[in-house]
Amino acid sequence: MASNGNENCNANDSVWRFKGNGATSIAAAATLRKLIFGMFKNCNFNNGKTILPSITHTFKTCPEAEEAVAAAVRSGMANSYAPSPGIFKARRAVADYLNGELPKKLKAEDVYITGGCNQAIEIVIDSLAGNPVANILLPRPGYPHYDARAVYSCIEIRKYDLLPQKDWEIDLDDLEAAADENTVAMVLINPNNPCGNVYSYDHLNKVAEMARKLGIVVISDEVYKQVVYGDRPFIPMGIFASVAPVITLGSISKGWVVPGWRIGWMAMNDPNRILKSTGVIQAIEDCLDITPQPSLILQEALPDILEKTPKEFFDKKIKAMRYSVELSCERLKDIPCLLCLKKPESCSYLWVKLDTSMLVDIKNDFEFCMKLVSEESVLLIPGVALGADGWVRISIGTDGSVLDEIFDRLKTFYDRHAISKEPNQLNGRIAMIRKRKIIFLKP
Ligand SMILES: *Cc1c(COP(=O)(O)O)cnc(C)c1O
Repeated sequence: MASNGNENCNANDSVWRFKGNGATSIAAAATLRKLIFGMFKNCNFNNGKTILPSITHTFKTCPEAEEAVAAAVRSGMANSYAPSPGIFKARRAVADYLNGELPKKLKAEDVYITGGCNQAIEIVIDSLAGNPVANILLPRPGYPHYDARAVYSCIEIRKYDLLPQKDWEIDLDDLEAAADENTVAMVLINPNNPCGNVYSYDHLNKVAEMARKLGIVVISDEVYKQVVYGDRPFIPMGIFASVAPVITLGSISKGWVVPGWRIGWMAMNDPNRILKSTGVIQAIEDCLDITPQPSLILQEALPDILEKTPKEFFDKKIKAMRYSVELSCERLKDIPCLLCLKKPESCSYLWVKLDTSMLVDIKNDFEFCMKLVSEESVLLIPGVALGADGWVRISIGTDGSVLDEIFDRLKTFYDRHAISKEPNQLNGRIAMIRKRKIIFLKP
């Protein structure tokens, strides 16, 4: 049949029998990446302002980690495929790294190496997705990769609230009310992105008791374990694994500031072997068999990265974060529509409440962030992307001079969109009258 080349423009009478999988776009709509790249498109690249915060201004990793990767390449030992669960020495090193704080020690076999924490999230969720009516409890606000992967694996999402007035503790009544006999797991993010808190021993103990009562596994995302700078110490959820099974997720992305290296892990804290008897371990190992293994170079380097990084590297970063928090909270006082209820004690964000009643032409957090990026080239994450309308996340893991520039621009933006107060309105009217007079006098 002759073709004029236009058939592919019209889906209805197309000759092609295939089309894109719509399920991926529904899942991808929930991710941060989609949102951030969407916001980049809204950026005005011609206003002479660099986009902030920029990846070139984040903290540097340590030379020991860089050397470990270079040595792995040069060794010639990292050119083949790795076994699906990861190489033994990397699994051993992660177990040792986590064991310091745990009463029941992990064996190397309890650890699986993944392509960053995100791949661990994918594998854990896929491994729990057998029951077609299963549901999972996710925090609000939360980290949207969980939402995206639950949508994609057809697990129903149920949200439980974090309580701002109680240091972002989990609303355990809300969590219990959200659960039913088809609930398989709850996700706990500790240290918490975006709220910046860490949970106390007592609270985690209650979480474990609740998980046991509900008969669910706790997925504990501890990817920010190395970025804790407040007074309260970080407590790993694995400590409570004899109450309810805990799958601990982590990576070097945040602690070592190398998210592009794509290396992380999941650890089965399960002294009562519940994950084994329920077939979850088998499902995880099967999932690992059908997905590419993370780079062997990074697996080879991982033991040295975990063992040879000097404490001073983390100390320096903690000092820098404390400085960033003080500076940011001080500068935020100039921007009355953004309110930080509590100084963060972990992670690298300010999680702030947005008061749109102080702004003339901005209805919600999404509009705030879109206008901000297009007018001032400052990229903040709207709360709606993290499940909480009316909030905004500001990244502050960057140098003081960059933070100053970010807050200067935020102030300019606020002044431009603020509802003018009485005296200003009056000033505005006087200015208009003066203007008219000038026009009147001119001819
Ligand atoms: C950044 C982040 C991840 C992803 O970590 P990667 O190792 O970069 O994949 C997972 N969970 C939370 C809470 C994060 O902030």
